[in-house]
Amino acid sequence: MIRIRFPRGVTPPAWLADGGEDVQVTDDPAVIALEEEKNTERQRAAVDRVLRPRFERAWSAGDPLFHLVSVETRAGCNHNCSFCPVSRSVDPRPPGELDLAVIELIARQLGELGYDRRIALFGNNEPLLDARLPEIVGVFRRACPAAELRVLTNGILARTALVAELFEAGLSTLTINNYTDGSRVIAPVRELVAEAGRLRHHDIRISVRRRTEVLTTRAGLAPNKPRPSAGPHGFCALPFTDLHISYTGEVNLCCFDAHGKVRMGDLAETPLVEIWRSALFAHHRSALLRSGRAELDLCRHCDFDGFRDPAPTASRPLTRDDILLSGSIDP
Ligand code: SF4
Repeated sequence: MIRIRFPRGVTPPAWLADGGEDVQVTDDPAVIALEEEKNTERQRAAVDRVLRPRFERAWSAGDPLFHLVSVETRAGCNHNCSFCPVSRSVDPRPPGELDLAVIELIARQLGELGYDRRIALFGNNEPLLDARLPEIVGVFRRACPAAELRVLTNGILARTALVAELFEAGLSTLTINNYTDGSRVIAPVRELVAEAGRLRHHDIRISVRRRTEVLTTRAGLAPNKPRPSAGPHGFCALPFTDLHISYTGEVNLCCFDAHGKVRMGDLAETPLVEIWRSALFAHHRSALLRSGRAELDLCRHCDFDGFRDPAPTASRPLTRDDILLSGSIDP
């Protein structure tokens, strides 16, 4: 099934109906969240008010494991979006890719943990530029049979044969950010719609977006928004839930650290669980619980709303709307 979401006020093109019942235009934020549905001041305040105590309670009672691992298998992108600190024309990082041996090590360590939550095979890069991606999907699927494997792409290289190959290798969900003027649909997406019958058993989500959107500061790195919008900039949940591995094999504070400024450890030297439970990670978590982003250089420049579900395995995952209506859930 291909589900596609357009920005508010944009009329979907009539030819989408050619995909029949295998193509669905959706407005459901649980399937595809529009950027305007995230990162508002009210949401940042609600994360601080509602999520901070929940995470504080969970971390004082134990030492929970991450529930999202992102693996950036190589550097680089083939597009130029105005908000992106690693687009083709501005990425300062040298080219490179994560060794297959390190990828297999990560998969093996996750497998030994019985890891069954989300693995995102992308970071600050365009994952379909990595010709090894179907093989890499297979490595993680074999190591973690119950995990949710996701790829997020700009869709430029999303030809039907490659998409089918990724799902055959074990991918769970492919999301395409179709970056144009916010209404035009790129040729590869049109091709996928034409082949929707062949792809009907796969979870394919397409978000039609503007390439010139102004989003968050990306921790001070966004070329079109270097300074954060007005506060409050309090608690952020990402270092409590996400383990972000860059193409160098280093673990960074979070996926917003696109240039790898805050290094938590190197997988060539230290197992990922030890990095996750390291004194350095603990220091960043304590600071976020104690005083929000004020003590941390990277975080001070960040206006991401900090939202993550503290218990995503519950029958109904928590949404941003839930925390805005904080009276309806446990404090
Ligand atoms: S506040 Fe921003 S930079 Fe800091 S951990 Fe959260 S997302 Fe990352």
